[in-house]
Amino acid sequence: MKIRNTILLLGIFSIIILITAQIIIIRGVWKQKDEMFNLRYRLFSQDALTIMNRQWSTDGFDTARLLINTKSKLVLKSMADNKTDSLTAEQKQNLYKYVTIVLNNEQDLSQWLSRFFARRHIDSVFNSKIVIMRFELINLDQTIPVYINPEFANRRPQIKSDTLRRPGPQPARMRQPRRSSEILVHMYQYEDNFYRLDFEYIIDFSDKQKIILREIAASLALSIFSIFLVVTLFLITYRNLMEEKRLSNLKTDFINNMTHELKTPLSTITVAGKTLELPLIRSNDAKILETAKLIGKQSVHLNQLINMILEISMWERTQFQLDKKKVRIEDLLNDIVESFKSGGGNGASITQKYNFKDMEVNLDIVYFTTLINNLLSNAVKYSDKDPVIEIEGFAENNYINVKVTDNGIGIGKNDQKHIFDKFYRASTGNIHKYKGLGLGLYYVKKIAEAHGGDVTVNSKPGKGSIFTVTLPY
Ligand code: ADP
Repeated sequence: MKIRNTILLLGIFSIIILITAQIIIIRGVWKQKDEMFNLRYRLFSQDALTIMNRQWSTDGFDTARLLINTKSKLVLKSMADNKTDSLTAEQKQNLYKYVTIVLNNEQDLSQWLSRFFARRHIDSVFNSKIVIMRFELINLDQTIPVYINPEFANRRPQIKSDTLRRPGPQPARMRQPRRSSEILVHMYQYEDNFYRLDFEYIIDFSDKQKIILREIAASLALSIFSIFLVVTLFLITYRNLMEEKRLSNLKTDFINNMTHELKTPLSTITVAGKTLELPLIRSNDAKILETAKLIGKQSVHLNQLINMILEISMWERTQFQLDKKKVRIEDLLNDIVESFKSGGGNGASITQKYNFKDMEVNLDIVYFTTLINNLLSNAVKYSDKDPVIEIEGFAENNYINVKVTDNGIGIGKNDQKHIFDKFYRASTGNIHKYKGLGLGLYYVKKIAEAHGGDVTVNSKPGKGSIFTVTLPY
């Protein structure tokens, strides 16, 4: 039990380590692919910008710059008219909105990039975004702040703020990480007659995850497959180990039972031998005969037991050699029951009910007799009251069915799964209340299968059992 738990725990532990390692590797690969994707598209975009500059002598924001300069000029003029050198929060807000709209609408970059990507047959579906970092009006030598992005301010803490949004209290100098799907194409810095503007142009591929997933699909599949393989192998090995352990326990039980079974006739023979040495016995012919008979009977029993063991190993090595003959099944069953009654089965009440209609079946009489005898002797053996046995026989769908019903102690659900296994004895182990070696039903099953048939059990503890043998005819 302890070893079993240790193996199970070790196995589970190794599987967890394996899965964790695989997750770490896959995450690493994913991160690498993600970075490569960003880098690739950033380089593509910058190439596109260079080409645009060369071909059109523009960066795509010419109109936007012109409009913003004009607007700034107008605002400054109205400030001069109103004799004020600062803007209200609302004015800043409106100006900020205007700049954002103009930058987004009056630019040719997105279209150019899209065409550039398409021409190179790379993914060209992306969203673009403009993030304003700083916007200031310039009035001669004076700057009037309109908007400063907190992130930008954090990067340049010297910028003091009479601005739309104030920088957060944290002294972070690091740039906040943008969403992993966003790629910064370029950071623009413009200074014109009436304004100064810093903004970022960002693109965002919404199906980037899908693209990366496609790229790492093979490694991911291999990884999952290897985990699946290891888990399956572990389960199979563990099951085999447990099965071997169970068989080895069964064998130990068998050896104990066997020793016990062999010892009984042997000790009787030894005692009988000693008895024959006594002068009192030697002078009495009747006693000598009685002792000799006892020795003979026990020797036969001993011989049967040894033959049984030899037979098992022979059955293990070779297939059944059936010597099939056509017999009237009803007559055969009647004979078997009669001889059982006059042998070990006396005292049992056995009723028979057949509906075979003179049917002849092709079977090995000796093995079939062993099969029925084993079922009958179990029905008698595993009974705690006067055994009442019923044998029923009928033909159905090209099969003959022989049902042996008893009123014995019955068999629990768990034991029912194993009673046909070699050496299996229901929970009694090597306790000798009911003598046996755990081979009777194993033989029954083997014989039925050798005839192309099967045997099943239906039982309830305390209520008796029904064994059904089906054989083709
Ligand atoms: P054995 O009788 O030598 O133990 P068997 O293979 O004949 O071996 O039976 C296997 C087990 O099945 C028995 O140990 C017993 O517990 C159970 N068994 C078999 N037949 C019956 C029956 N008719 N009623 C109750 N239990 C049975």
